[in-house]
Amino acid sequence: MLNETSYALGHTRSVIRDLFEYGRARAQVVGPENVYDYSLGNPSIPSPPEVNEAIRAILADTPSLEVHGYTSAVGDLEARAAIARDLNARYDADVAPEELFLGCGAAPELAAVFRALAGPGEEILAIAPYFPEYKPFVEASGAAFRAVPPDVPGFQIDLAALEANVTERTAAVIVNSPNNPSGAVYSEETLGKLAALLTEKARAYGHPIYIVSDEPYRELVYDGVEVPFLPKIYPDTLVCYSYSKSLSLPGERIGYVYVPRAAAQGERLYAAVAGASRAIGHVCAPSLLQKVIARCAHLRPDLEAYDRNRRALAGGLGEMGYEMARPEGAFYLFVKAPGGDAEAFSRRAKERDLLIVPGDGFGCPGYFRLCYCVSFDRIQRSLPVFRRLIEER
Ligand code: PLP
Repeated sequence: MLNETSYALGHTRSVIRDLFEYGRARAQVVGPENVYDYSLGNPSIPSPPEVNEAIRAILADTPSLEVHGYTSAVGDLEARAAIARDLNARYDADVAPEELFLGCGAAPELAAVFRALAGPGEEILAIAPYFPEYKPFVEASGAAFRAVPPDVPGFQIDLAALEANVTERTAAVIVNSPNNPSGAVYSEETLGKLAALLTEKARAYGHPIYIVSDEPYRELVYDGVEVPFLPKIYPDTLVCYSYSKSLSLPGERIGYVYVPRAAAQGERLYAAVAGASRAIGHVCAPSLLQKVIARCAHLRPDLEAYDRNRRALAGGLGEMGYEMARPEGAFYLFVKAPGGDAEAFSRRAKERDLLIVPGDGFGCPGYFRLCYCVSFDRIQRSLPVFRRLIEER
């Protein structure tokens, strides 16, 4: 006997993974420089040098059993204290180490948080365009996943559409800003309106409606754009953070969940996140990395290379007549498909070894996503292909 839901999830590869594998195979045939792969959000800037220095110092200074041993299930106090200090210094916040739960990156943290918040008969909403993995994470909790239509072309939040989707069964709304795939950053004004709407709905239905703020791209913003700290705007917010993108550590699996005590049922909620993590066997984030974060939580990425790519790609495509969401954050451009059919456009692009992801899987047909965490050379070499594709129409 098999769990058919799990089988179906494991059996079908995502469009993104398919394109990525295709790109690797094509590179063997035509040479890597002739494949313009924009499919996968794998950071292309190295971690700040202090990260590797910290790893070397920890290995040199700390007994091996301690470096590689289990830590407390919620994470080492030292790491949690460093994260709290950093958040408090940046946002003038009041985060305590006891409100932080260390996790193996945003993915398992989200999976645990959804299970902590909701179950059968309840719903969790995501605002399109959204990270496709939210759906299986939510559905594994037993709750229903519901998508709110996108706010096109501004890519903020369509509040009327959100309001139409909130029901008495709504347990939480997922917010992801800077956004994958749109690259949009929700403004303070947008978030203020969202908070007002959810406060009103929570009052009307007589139970809290939480925000789950998925923030792996918080540090990746350009042109002086700021990412508001959502718990200060809406207290019933849980933050899922990851160092995968900000410190270029996606393979190391480290991040945290912030569960404010001031949130509705805050203390019980923290226990529920710990319990949900336990139930999915996700306890005790990597010990070495916890020690690294204790020393490196204050570090920020050097965004120059991403910014250069962003300007070259957005500028080049804009001149050719492509329309796109304002690329303020993360490392994604979300571009309107000429002709309106992103899947067809992406197929045409693939014939020229240009690998782009249609927006359908992100709940936003008609657009395609480009990950510009690639070499500058790839961007330059791919621009003529983009030009041919739009001119051919
Ligand atoms: N959330 C979003 C919006 C993402 O884009 C990703 C990864 O690309 C994740 C969560 C998962 O990140 P992690 O590597 O920390 O599990």
